[in-house]
Amino acid sequence: MSDTVSFGYEDIAREEKTARVGKVFSNVASKYDLMNDAMSGGLHRVWKDRFVRRVKPQAGEHILDMAGGTGDIAFRMEPSGAIITVADINPEMLAVGVERAAQRGLDEMVWSEANAEKLSFPDKFFDAYTIAFGIRNVTDIPAALREAHRVLKRGGRFYCLEFSTTQWPGFAQVYDAYSHHLVPKLGQLLANDADSYRYLIESIRRFPEMPVFEKMIQDAGFVRTRVEPLLGGLVAIHSGWKI
Ligand code: SAM
Repeated sequence: MSDTVSFGYEDIAREEKTARVGKVFSNVASKYDLMNDAMSGGLHRVWKDRFVRRVKPQAGEHILDMAGGTGDIAFRMEPSGAIITVADINPEMLAVGVERAAQRGLDEMVWSEANAEKLSFPDKFFDAYTIAFGIRNVTDIPAALREAHRVLKRGGRFYCLEFSTTQWPGFAQVYDAYSHHLVPKLGQLLANDADSYRYLIESIRRFPEMPVFEKMIQDAGFVRTRVEPLLGGLVAIHSGWKI
């Protein structure tokens, strides 16, 4: 295993990454929801709705929303009657989620501080595992995928929503210019923090392309894997089954 990992465009020591990612999300937590809307022009809502339609949560199912942050995916799954655990490594992100849940009168959700690479949940516990815009921030992605596989029941489903690489010519260039120049400026303006948003954009560029990530999911033991690109692959839904 290599001693260095990517942190945006930087290569840093493996043991430094988790703490530096932690700082980014502690900095952005209070402005996270506002910034998501500002940066994506509200599109993240459309992608998240589509993602949850793919997951098809059912009443009584146990679902783990990993890297669940402020609860955007969990709140979309909750009306199904599924029993949802939101897990995230960052207490500040979770605190925003807990407050949002309280405002909505949702007291059934479980909120758990956890590193995706090493979970304390038992084997074969969950019916589905979701992770949205979280996996690219994890230091040891194969370890997180193996943990996802471990905590799922046989017949359990894995779903990942993540930025990827758009294949649409023209659009890729426009998006590149927008994300590298405008997003850090928006971060500065709205959250007084250009650097965290620069990291978020750069980390997208360093994330493995769709076929490579799909192979990583297979290597963790998942079968019948599928990739659904959105906007030519700007964002992608990867899924797989544990049998
Ligand atoms: N899923 C939420 C959403 O779609 O709005 C939050 C996504 S946010 C971009 C990424 C989240 O991943 C942050 O809340 C961060 O704390 C979390 N995260 C980063 N590394 C993690 C790790 N190793 N284990 C668990 N969560 C992690």
